[in-house]
Amino acid sequence: MNRDIDEALLTRIRETYARVRSEQAIKALQRNGFEAAYAATPEEAAQKVFELVPAGASVGVGGSMTARQLGLLRALAERGHKVVHHWLPGLTPAEARRLRLEESVCDVYLTSSNAITLDGKLVNVDGTGNRAGAMMYGPGRVIVVAGYNKVVADVDEAVARIKAVAAPMNAIRYSYKTPCALTGVCNDCSSPDRLCRVTAIIERRPNSIRFNVLLVGAELGF
Ligand code: SF4
Repeated sequence: MNRDIDEALLTRIRETYARVRSEQAIKALQRNGFEAAYAATPEEAAQKVFELVPAGASVGVGGSMTARQLGLLRALAERGHKVVHHWLPGLTPAEARRLRLEESVCDVYLTSSNAITLDGKLVNVDGTGNRAGAMMYGPGRVIVVAGYNKVVADVDEAVARIKAVAAPMNAIRYSYKTPCALTGVCNDCSSPDRLCRVTAIIERRPNSIRFNVLLVGAELGF
């Protein structure tokens, strides 16, 4: 395609924006007790995750599209880690429940976050609540990997982003018939498929958990 603008310039602008915006969130996260860092690329993020997961550690993975986009489940398993997750076909409800519980007591819990605020908070909306719970208590360490597209101004903008972007996209992924999946707009539904059942705001690092947040200079997840 012929373009009237220099692609390299566009890439440079996007990379700089991703970095400088992420740096603001990282400083605030550090003030709030999280170990936060920036990874310029998905490859660099994956390498940082490998460095943070101790040899022999078990790794539970929540319903994170980002972790899967980065190929972390397969890569960690290939590095000899026991990887526990419930995105497996054909699970009975009892099996899915057992795996969700097992994920939450692994040595490391790997997930993303629906939104990360510029004042250093993590905001997540769950249907089941297992991810929100595991980010607060259970594992020895939590590692959050998130694209810079998850950075928002504050908690209000986080919730707005979740209702406008994350929830509809996840509902479409599951073929749910929620209003947001059918129209792209949230109407605070009473659908049996409603995803938005638990809203968790982590304002400071929870006491019993080492907590890493990696912001990545790429658009990842929903
Ligand atoms: S409340 Fe219902 S319509 Fe709104 S974002 Fe959540 S699932 Fe979608």
